[in-house]
Amino acid sequence: MSECPKCGGKMIQGEAYINVDTLSTSSMMSGMMPTMPGMNLESVGIKQEKRIKWREKTGEKTGFLIKSEEVRTMSVKGIRCLECGYIELYAQK
Ligand SMILES: [Zn+2]
Repeated sequence: MSECPKCGGKMIQGEAYINVDTLSTSSMMSGMMPTMPGMNLESVGIKQEKRIKWREKTGEKTGFLIKSEEVRTMSVKGIRCLECGYIELYAQK
């Protein structure tokens, strides 16, 4: 178990992600149709969770004709302090 560099509290592991609200259908419809009473807009929106990725250039060149720099993609993990809420992120292969 890691210790918080700020206060020395306990750190717990977590994962960084973005919560994306896809309300494309309801926002399009609302312009044409009157909002129906009792209609729950919350259920219409599709909730999507997007993971944060870390991308870096490895410095290695790939390809014979078209030289392009190789890119390494890693998932971003993190630990959060239970005491002060300090978050430390790190990339994992
Ligand atoms: Zn702390």
